[in-house]
Amino acid sequence: MKSNAHIIKFFRQRIPAFTCVPGCHDCCGPVLASTEEMARLPRKSAQEQDAAMAALNCPHLGANGCQVYEERPLVCRLFGTTPKLACPNGKRPEVMIDPLIEDRIYRYFIQTRHVLV
Ligand code: SF4
Ligand code: SF4
Repeated sequence: MKSNAHIIKFFRQRIPAFTCVPGCHDCCGPVLASTEEMARLPRKSAQEQDAAMAALNCPHLGANGCQVYEERPLVCRLFGTTPKLACPNGKRPEVMIDPLIEDRIYRYFIQTRHVLV
């Protein structure tokens, strides 16, 4: 069985990239991530997490956008690449995600313990 690190790498490579509206973070909010992904993110204090949650924000959202962009969780990468998580600003990759990969990602979400970022 492949490790979680391999699985995350596999999915990351198969989620198509696209260009967002500059500075936009409309799809950011409280998100869930696997413990493997969490281990790659800087820890936030309980106070920072509470403040972000009270504002329905992600604790990694800064004044200039995502502060953990290179390690952002799969769900953040998936947003905008499937009609199920369509970008409200009409941005999308030229080719949307392969539905088979999308289904595998949802299964991974269900089968793997996820916590609030
Ligand atoms: S996917 Fe859409 S809503 Fe999300 S940051 Fe990009 S442009 Fe903004
Ligand atoms: S990790 Fe980054 S991209 Fe994902 S919700 Fe938080 S700020 Fe937005």
